[in-house]
This record gives sequence, structure tokens and C-alpha cells, in this order.
Amino acid sequence: MPLFDIPGWSVPSEPVSELSPNTKKRKRHSDASEPPANLDKLVEHLKTAATNDPTTSPQARSFLEKRAQKKREKKAKAHEAKKERISLPKPLHKATHEEASTRPHKKMKSAPPADTPDAAVAEVASSSTKPASSKGKNKRTAPTRTSPKLDADDAPSESSSSGSLTTLQKAMRDSLDGARFRLINETLYKNASERAKGMMQEDPRMFEDYHAGFRRQVQSWPTNPVNHYIATLSRYPPRTVIADLGCGDGALARALVPKTFTVLSFDLVSDGGYVVAADTCSHVPLPGSEGTEGEKSAGEGQVVDVVVCALSLMSTNWPGCIREAWRILKEGGELKVAEVTSRFTDVDRFIALLGAIGFKLKSKDESNSHFMLFEFKKVARKWKAEKDWQAILTKGDLLKPCEYKRR
Ligand code: SAH
Repeated sequence: MPLFDIPGWSVPSEPVSELSPNTKKRKRHSDASEPPANLDKLVEHLKTAATNDPTTSPQARSFLEKRAQKKREKKAKAHEAKKERISLPKPLHKATHEEASTRPHKKMKSAPPADTPDAAVAEVASSSTKPASSKGKNKRTAPTRTSPKLDADDAPSESSSSGSLTTLQKAMRDSLDGARFRLINETLYKNASERAKGMMQEDPRMFEDYHAGFRRQVQSWPTNPVNHYIATLSRYPPRTVIADLGCGDGALARALVPKTFTVLSFDLVSDGGYVVAADTCSHVPLPGSEGTEGEKSAGEGQVVDVVVCALSLMSTNWPGCIREAWRILKEGGELKVAEVTSRFTDVDRFIALLGAIGFKLKSKDESNSHFMLFEFKKVARKWKAEKDWQAILTKGDLLKPCEYKRR
């Protein structure tokens, strides 16, 4: 029996009494401090989905399994290294030894220690175009990539590795990585999400390469929207349920899950951990309905308090992602959108389009030189027929593709 027998929800699981199927009297959960009892099951199910996505090709699956194995090994090594450090005699490793003997062992929900936002930042630093001498600590082997083509190639996707490359070799490697990043980026922005998903699922290394390049780009910005959202959402009530649509490497989840928030993270490719594979422009695997024909409503069955779309309205059919955001948000829930300023053809028309989907603008922040931040609130709206949706979903050209310059 399905967990939620409501439109848009397709993940089968145990029946749950609180959101039982086919009843209009189900309990509404508008208070973030009181999560629905089935939320834990939902999170558990999504974790399984992250590793067992049936749409993933065998080639991609084997890649993902290997990557997950590597992550486990890395984590075990880090753990061993930490144990060794802890057992060093006091004069050699004073602070750590003292800390270790006094601090109780705190288990994080499942975030691998090496994957903290700090680690991500360190990786960016090690992959930037600074001279090789500043990255002496990075000992990974050099990739052998020879062209920035979009097809799978035999090179490892360790874009950030510098190993024993000379400065010239490294400059050439960075230039190729940059070209490949820009090519993947362009493909993502100039196509519908279905094509982007197919491309990424066939070769998940593309996803990794894209993100290595993406991190290099945002590193040169004064601030990164995801860091802004980490800071803002950290102040929300504990157990706020956040859906991160187009989460990339899941920075939001890695920062907020240890702080008791529930972050449901979706992107084109799963990382076998926090990130569940989904094309957010066509369907987000979370509960929620769009209401009933002829009625004005906020739909029902939702569990999400806040949706974040940080630089992720990429595909030409991005209005579909906003439609999904509305469907999965509780009434009064928040939608946070960050987008690159140069993408907007007409900000007022963008806001009007989101208004037609059922979002009321709460605030707009244009103070940043690189991106704009919008806060919307989900409001009830009149049910729409598919032909009305078509008029909305084809307005993707309100946002231009973001073309990163050669640096
Ligand atoms: N929000 C993250 C990542 C931004 S990069 C951050 O701010 O750090 C944009 C992300 O959106 C990419 O990871 C890309 O794969 C994802 N994305 C774009 N279109 C998508 C779609 N249709 N479905 C799921 N993810 C999508």
C-alpha cells in the first residue's frame, strides 16, 4: 500500500496513520516544532532511494557504488588517523589529546567528517589556479584528461588533484577542466531537464566535474548563496523541514543536519548519501497535492516548511521546479530562490510568474553584485488545468542561461 495515496507522491512504504490515504480530515502540520510522525520514515526511505535509484544506469550505478566505497574507506582512514593522533603522547599533540580525553564522542547523523563545508572549501582552494606550490598538501594522482569533451572519457574525475604536475602542466589541466565545466554548464542551461538528467545519469563523472568547476567559480564571488542560507536557516526552529532542490554536493544538508534540521536534498545525481536523484523540474519524490479541480486551496499532505533553490533553476523548463516547490510546501511555507543577477531579463515578470504559480513575494535582495535573493510565501491558489500550466511552463526564457567567462 502506498505511504501517501495522493497525487505527486510515489514512494511506496508502510502505511502511516497520520497521513492515511484518501481522507480529507488528515492532520495539517504547519508547526515546524512538531514534525509529522512519518517524517523519520520518509527520511529513511529517501536515504535508501539515494543508493537504489532504479532509473540509474548500470554504468552509473557501478560508478556510484565505487564512489560510495571510496568515501567509506576515506572515512575509515580519517577515523584511524584521528585515533592515532589522539594516542600521541601529550607533548607531541597537546590540544587534541586533551580535547579527546575530555570531550564525549558525539555521533553525527551520517555526515562523513571529510565532507564538511570546510572540506569543500579546502578542495576549491586546492583546485584554483594559484601556483602549484601553494597546494603542497594535495597528493592525489593527476588526471590524464586530454579534451574537454562531454562524453565519458577514461580520465579520473579528480579535477582538483594536482599531484606532481609542473606549474605549466597544472595550468593546462585547469584550462581543460574549465572548458569542460563551461561546456557542461552550457548544456545544462540550454536544454530541458530531461536531457540534463539523461546526460548526468549516463556519466555521473560529469556531475563531479561540473561541481569542481562550480566551486571554483563561486569561490571568486564575494559570498556564496548556499553559505547565506546555511547561516539564515541555522536560526530557524529546530526540526524545520527543508527541501533543497538542485542541492549540488549537499552543502546545506551537511551543515544543517547535524544541527537537528531535516534537509531533504535532490539533484540530478545521487551521491549515495544525502542526495536523492530527481529531476526537480518534473517530479520531486515528496508528498503533496495540487488541490481539487474548481477549488482554491493550498493542496494537502505536505511535510516541507522551506524550499531552497540556490542557483538551481538551470533547465529551460525551470518553472516546473517552482510548480513542484508549491506542491511539496505546506501552506504558508517559504520558498527561497537565489539566482545569478545577469540571468534576469525582467525581474518583475519573474516575480509575476511565481505569483501565478502561487507564491507571494516577501522580500527581494539585490545588494549582492553576483546574485539576487528572493523570499516567497506559498499561498492558496485556484486549481489549474494542464493547458493553463503549459502557458506557465513555457516561460523559461525569463531567465537567460548563465555563461561563466574564461578566467
Ligand atoms: N544549490 C547548490 C548547487 C548549485 S549548482 C549550491 O548552491 O551549492 C546547480 C545545481 O542544480 C546543480 O547541481 C545541478 O545539477 C542542479 N540542477 C539543475 N537542474 C536540475 C534539475 N532539473 N533537477 C535536479 N537538479 C538540477
